[in-house]
Amino acid sequence: MGGGEMKYIQQAFDENWISPLGPNVNGFESDLEMFLNDGVHIAALMSGTSAIHIALMLLKVKPGDDVICQSLTFSASANPIMYLGANPVFIDSEPDTWNLCPVALEEAIIDGINRNNKPKAIIAVSIYGMPYKIDEIRKISDKYNIPIIEDSAEALGSMYKNKKCGTFGDLSVLSFNGNKIITSSGGGALVVKNRKYKDKAVFLSTQAKDEAPHYQHSELGYNYRLSNICAGIGRGQMEVLDQRILERRANHEFYKKVFEDIEDVTIFSEPSDDYYSNYWLNNIIINPSVSGVDREKVRLKLLEENIESRPLWKPLHLQPIFKTSKYFGDNNVAENLFNTGLCLPSGSNLTLEDKDRIASCLRMCFNK
Ligand SMILES: *Cc1c(COP(=O)(O)O)cnc(C)c1O
Repeated sequence: MGGGEMKYIQQAFDENWISPLGPNVNGFESDLEMFLNDGVHIAALMSGTSAIHIALMLLKVKPGDDVICQSLTFSASANPIMYLGANPVFIDSEPDTWNLCPVALEEAIIDGINRNNKPKAIIAVSIYGMPYKIDEIRKISDKYNIPIIEDSAEALGSMYKNKKCGTFGDLSVLSFNGNKIITSSGGGALVVKNRKYKDKAVFLSTQAKDEAPHYQHSELGYNYRLSNICAGIGRGQMEVLDQRILERRANHEFYKKVFEDIEDVTIFSEPSDDYYSNYWLNNIIINPSVSGVDREKVRLKLLEENIESRPLWKPLHLQPIFKTSKYFGDNNVAENLFNTGLCLPSGSNLTLEDKDRIASCLRMCFNK
């Protein structure tokens, strides 16, 4: 926590706004709108997952529709496609940003068109905080007239060409889950450019009540709005977001130093000056060809020292739940990343002592 959260929570109690609406919800939305600074409108929701669900509904995704999603991501990027009875179509990563491969994306779109099932949306993720190839993916989206849902659940504070992640999709999604760069204990947001989309998102996420003195429903509603208490935590966290980004980026500099003389390890970094990552998580790829040390050896060695690390996201096309889904990609980039990649401790609150312990353990793995 940053320290300012309790004053917003206390305010909610003092004013008796204990509900999924109230001044903190409105305040959190305007804090986020100001941060993204692109004339966007925000609907604060109870999770990033519910924001993706609502985004798909706003794009009128129906049972049997195809929706494209990158494979190297958390299952929450794709689960809402299934909630709607639609079909996820998974796409491999490219090696620079680990996000949507433009070549495989276009193949998948052409395949859909040939089957008379043009995909309804492209879910583009900025994985681990690294923006996807924004211009290339936008070009394809425009060429085939398929909207982008930008999943920036992990990328709040990241930028591409000095513009904030969360402003690139036709609809964009943020998350404030406990593990994200800032948290509202649980929460998410839908970011839209069109005020009508925001109004519709709020309508659907508050049980789709028609205007009438009694309860009247012509559409299927959901209970997806963010609690005013959680929004208070979010508002407090917004006060420290810039600081959190600097802390995470400092972690990246720390890991660059740790591995600077270790040939086996490539640290996942911005591919050019166009990219600015919040480095939500720091990741390395371990190529065992030099010293014979592989990912699992490093992970288990860290575990012995009570230091948690994890393999990268298991690509969704390899997950049992999605085993019948289509997949496009010829180079197994995501699968190779999964086999050789490791997420390292990346909390904003790592102490110098923590970092010393992590550094010496990691360097020991490579006999340094
Ligand atoms: C966390 C996350 C989500 C889901 O957000 P919740 O708020 O946890 O529902 C979606 N996509 C990605 C890439 C995520 O990391």
